[in-house]
Parts: sequence; structure tokens; C-alpha cells
Amino acid sequence: MTRERRGLVIVNTGDGKGKTTAALGVALRARGHGYSVIGLQFIKSAARETGERAAARALGFDLIPLGDGFTWLSKDTERTVSLALEAWDIAKGHILSGAFDVVILDELTYALQYGWVDTAEVIATLAARPAGVHVVITGRGAPEALIAAADLVTEMRAVKHPYQAGIPAQEGVDF
Ligand code: ATP
Ligand code: MG
Repeated sequence: MTRERRGLVIVNTGDGKGKTTAALGVALRARGHGYSVIGLQFIKSAARETGERAAARALGFDLIPLGDGFTWLSKDTERTVSLALEAWDIAKGHILSGAFDVVILDELTYALQYGWVDTAEVIATLAARPAGVHVVITGRGAPEALIAAADLVTEMRAVKHPYQAGIPAQEGVDF
């Protein structure tokens, strides 16, 4: 049976946990079919190795940290903005090149919320991408215009989180 490959724009947003985890689930599934995958992390810096980055290498794709940590706390806003714009330029190239079947833009929404990256340009780039390319965008507070442009939008709702009980982030679950 042949299936038509129709690239989807997928947005995982909301305040609950699971946005990045679900994006990584797509990557896992896609790699299982031999699809090429790349993930760009807009907030995370390379400072700390994460389980997902090591596992991605083992699965044959790159998860590239392009941010400078918790960016909105950064004192050097100019650097933060230029890093976000550089990351977006890289993302745009990967989306339009058709070299990847799946492009994950982890925590892109923060760059959109703060206006570092132009939402209209992101939407125009998504519209111009090759037909089969899936793009997964994660992060809280996805702009309405992006939600309108997406094919699949999921809002994670926090019902209960261990953080509320004073339990810190756990290796293997949170990083
Ligand atoms: P994950 O990467 O675990 O799938 P996420 O992408 O949905 O989570 P982010 O907003 O990127 O969530 O947050 C990253 C970190 O914040 C994670 O370690 C996660 O456990 C934690 N977190 C997510 N949701 C909540 C919440 N509702 N309350 C407190 N901490 C949270
Ligand atoms: Mg996340």
C-alpha cells in the first residue's frame, strides 16, 4: 500500500509537561522508518548534556542546542536576540532545503512571544516548504496566527506536576 506523504505543521503548546517529549516521540517514530530528522533547540544551551541529545545521536539524528540557557533571564538581550535570529536562519534553511523529512523547532514559541523572531516570517516559511516536510514546533504560548496555520495543535494542560510538591527535575524524565 502506498500512502501519500503530506507534511504536517505540528504545534505542541500549553503550560503542562510533555511538549518536547512528544516532539521527540515523533523523531523516534520517524527514524524508525528511516526518515531524516533534525532538531534545533532555541533556548537550551550546550552547557549541559541531556539524555535526549545522546539518544538522538544513537538514533542517527542531531539535536542542536542553539540558545544561551534561560534566555529571558539573560542580561545580554542583544546577544539573546542575535542568537535567536541565527537559530531561525538555520531553521529556515533546513525547512526549505528539503534535506530533512522532520524538522523540530524546540521552544521556538518563546522567540516568537518576545518578538525576537517574526511570526509572519515563520508562517510564510512553513507555507513555502517542500510538500513532504513535517515541522514540529514546541513551547508555551504559541501565537494564535501560528496555531491557525498549523495542521495539528495540542495544548498540554498541567493537572499535577512534581515541581509543585518540591520534587526536582529527574534524570531520564526531565533531561
Ligand atoms: P518536556 O521537555 O519534559 O516534555 P515541556 O517541553 O512540555 O517538557 P518546558 O516548558 O519545555 O516543558 O519545560 C521544561 C521543563 O519544565 C521540564 O523539565 C518540565 O518537567 C518542566 N515543566 C513542564 N511543565 C511544568 C509545570 N506545569 N510545572 C512545573 N514545571 C514544568
Ligand atoms: Mg520543552
